[in-house]
Parts: sequence; C-alpha cells; structure tokens
Amino acid sequence: QWIYLNGEYVAKHEAKISVFDHGFLYGDGIFEGIRIYNGNIFKCKEHLDRLYDSAKSIMLDIPLSYSEMERALIETIRKNGMNDGYIRLVVSRGDGNLGLDPRRCPKANVVIIVEQLAIYPPEAYVNGLKSVSVSTRRNIPDALNPKIKSLNYLNNILVKIQANLAGAGEAIMLNAQGYVAEGSSDNIFIVKNGVVFTPPCYVGALEGITRGAILEICGKIGLPVRIEPFTLHDVYVADEVFFTGTAAEVIATCEVDGRVIGSGKAGPITTRLLEEFRKIVEIDGLK
Ligand code: PMP
Repeated sequence: QWIYLNGEYVAKHEAKISVFDHGFLYGDGIFEGIRIYNGNIFKCKEHLDRLYDSAKSIMLDIPLSYSEMERALIETIRKNGMNDGYIRLVVSRGDGNLGLDPRRCPKANVVIIVEQLAIYPPEAYVNGLKSVSVSTRRNIPDALNPKIKSLNYLNNILVKIQANLAGAGEAIMLNAQGYVAEGSSDNIFIVKNGVVFTPPCYVGALEGITRGAILEICGKIGLPVRIEPFTLHDVYVADEVFFTGTAAEVIATCEVDGRVIGSGKAGPITTRLLEEFRKIVEIDGLK
C-alpha cells in the first residue's frame, strides 16, 4: 500500500507525520472521504470543491492547485492498483510549535490514503440499521461550522460511542434547538406519504455529497423533496428513514429509539433510491 505524503509515495509503515503537526495537536485541518467505483473517482469535483472551501474558510493554504490535487488522487489510486475502494484525503495545518498560532505552521501536510472499504453487509441494506438519538448536540455554526469538514470529530466520536453503548449501528444527532441534524457520519432523510425530507444544512448537517446525489436522483425520478427542519417525532412516525454517506451509500434505519419504522425493513423508496444511486456511481466519475 502506497501512501501519498507531501508529494512522495511512501510505504504504509513509513508514512509518518510529526508530533508537532497541528492536526495531531489541535485537530487543525480538514479532510475528505471519497469513493472509487469501477476505477472512477466518484463526484471528485464536489469533494475537491468542499475541501478547498473548507480550507478557505479556516485560512488553510493547500500547497497543491486543484488540478495538482486531482492528479495526486489519480496517481495514488493507480500506484495502488485500486478499482473499487475509498480515498481518505487529509490536509492538516502542518508542523508548528506547541502554541496554537497557525502562523507557526509554514506548510500544510497533505496525505492521501487509498484503501479497501469495510462496508455494511448486503443484508444490512435490506434489514436496515438500528439507530438511537443521542444527547451530544451537533456543532453550531461559527464555532464548529458543520459545513467545514474539519478534523474536529470529537462530537461525532462521542455520538458513535453512545450508539455503540446502545447496540445501534447509527445515531441521530440533534442540534441545540432539538431539530434533527444528521447521523454520526451520515446525512439523514425521512419519507412520509411519498415525500422525501432532509434537514437543511443550517440546522447542523454537513452538505453531504451523497445527500446531493440523492436529491438529484429524486428530481430525476420525480419524487417530491422538501428540505426543511424536522423533529424526532417526525422520524418516529415516518414511513421510511435512511442515512446517506460516502461509505454507507443509502442505508435504511428500521428502528429508531425502539420505535419500528414502517414495515421494519428497508422501504420501497429507500430501496429505489439505492438502486438508482448504484446506477450512477458506475458512470459518473473522474477516470
Ligand atoms: N455528515 C458527517 C458528519 C460526515 O462526516 C459525513 C461524511 N462521512 C456525511 C455527513 C456524509 O457526507 P458525504 O455524503 O459527503 O460522505
């Protein structure tokens, strides 16, 4: 396995970052998780747009141009002979001193890892995940804006721990006002009377690339969509509830806080959206 590390390709056990890197010391950095399907980088432009927007927002200079980054991704995939898998692209503030001032970090560290993906077993897409709502609230705009895909994932990790303790596969995170925001690392959708709902990002959700792809598919196949805030009550009484994310794709949750959702299995709209999604991943990507 070859890791891209600041312009070089190094073996996995030699891919090392300094303990003075501010990504390590402070979680100061950004990242993307991207899928490779059939040798294509799925939604490459969308992921790189989000990466460069996150960088701009936190005043982080990425030492590669957009096209250099594209080439680095393609070359890392090629070197690893990967046809289907996952790319983790990390840009941290770089090596500094123990103070948190980013001016002491002259150059960002850039890492690209490609790996096989540990995905849910096929039956999970039929039977759905069990999920629970958790007490940890989603980061609020200004402090840790959910639109910035930063290395500060402590909230999400606390959420994952709560889900693990409850024996659930995903969690439902609310914002400070109690509106449903998203999962621990997935966006959330509900379906009621044939209408698909997802929270707006200002409620406290990452602008997920898979979320965007699903909204596009809904438009294409004529499913009505409403992007509006909703509560846990709406989730409990929904006909279908599903999560979307780069790794998870489209996965139903059939039990939320002990309430059975719909038939207790992935519903027809979730199943259709997953089918349509899997059709586009094969063709829609950067070769
Ligand atoms: N929300 C959070 C907090 C995430 O980390 C992710 C990425 N795994 C998502 C949603 C889903 O986004 P995407 O579809 O771009 O992977």
